[in-house]
Amino acid sequence: MDLLEYQGKRLFARHGLRVSSGKPVATVEDAVAAAEEVGYPVVVKAQVLIGGRGKAGGVKLAADEGALREHAGNILGMDIKGHVVRTLWIEHASDIASEYYASVLLDRSAKKPLVMFSVEGGVDIEEVAEKTPEKLVRHHVDPLVGLTREEALRIARDGGADSDVVEGVADAMVALYEVWIEEDATLAEINPLIVTPERDVRALDSKVSLDGNALFRHPENAGLSDVENQDPIERRANEQGVQYVKLDGDIGILGNGAGLVMSTLDVVAQAGGSPANFLDAGGGSDAEKVKQAVELILENDAVKAVLFNIFGGITRCDEVARGLIAAFQEIEPSVPFVVRLDGTNDAEGRRLLEEAALPNVHAARTMNEAAEKVVKLAAGEPVGSAG
Ligand code: GDP
Ligand code: MN
Repeated sequence: MDLLEYQGKRLFARHGLRVSSGKPVATVEDAVAAAEEVGYPVVVKAQVLIGGRGKAGGVKLAADEGALREHAGNILGMDIKGHVVRTLWIEHASDIASEYYASVLLDRSAKKPLVMFSVEGGVDIEEVAEKTPEKLVRHHVDPLVGLTREEALRIARDGGADSDVVEGVADAMVALYEVWIEEDATLAEINPLIVTPERDVRALDSKVSLDGNALFRHPENAGLSDVENQDPIERRANEQGVQYVKLDGDIGILGNGAGLVMSTLDVVAQAGGSPANFLDAGGGSDAEKVKQAVELILENDAVKAVLFNIFGGITRCDEVARGLIAAFQEIEPSVPFVVRLDGTNDAEGRRLLEEAALPNVHAARTMNEAAEKVVKLAAGEPVGSAG
């Protein structure tokens, strides 16, 4: 779960990391009110879940109300690499003496948290890592101990932080590590971590991803997901506890289990089709769940045909078939469905479907057969008798 810059900064502040004061707004008028509150000069910053906003024109300094109105008007509604700006963060502008970089993430291969620091901040850190790797300090942390202040001081010195701000930088890194561990983040990054002419150390930007699976431990963070910018069908699916990802094609894909759904996407692509979504209904198979999933899929107007792929394990195929039959009695789908049932009680499931003779439902035994059928149906070609 990725956070917007200002949401990440709020978490930073909660853990004692210094940030500038600011306000999120959604209109030019609110931007003006916010600027008066935080004091000119201000920075107008697009709040979108993508980096490189500065280069794209989504970060502008404004010395007075005229400039603020102009920039806020331009940035609201701006499209930054496919992300439309609906929220601005108005922050009191900082004077910058230096731009550093700091981050904490999990190094899976080392099985340890990794703290990174560089005095070459403000720029693309991948570029620093590639061209001048000696300028990027990488330090693994003992997860049982955490990042100690001594370690952080050493990282700051090794990285070449100005000697008068080594302590401030170390404090910032200790706080950043605390954000990462205590908020169950998968990434906590500051780029740039600035040094002001007064020699304050402050986070000017934030990039924080939280582990969605740990959200139950942080009910106060649950509201942070970028619900407004989420696809409405994805949002409903999340609310219903179903995994749904919108794609660009015209074939709806529905299955039980993420692995199965992913391989179904591949098989459909191999058969020349283009998936419209990824819907993992998860375990369970009762009529209500199947109905919800079918409804979600059909809400996307681009869907021309649906492949319903079930591999029965604990989930029994006959139960899924019953669920589907019950669901179809209520919703009468407007597009053809191909149903592939395999695994526990699959023969029984297929028999039930056959008996029900649902209009517009085609049974298939294998994934390849199902994929070929659904691709034809989406193209409006016949595939033989339904049922
Ligand atoms: P990003 O481009 O999405 O990474 O957005 P950032 O928040 O990192 O801002 C991009 C750049 O804008 C920073 O590296 C700074 O150089 C500049 N910038 C942002 N805020 C301020 C500010 O308060 N004062 C000044 N002088 N520059 C700023
Ligand atoms: Mn940045």
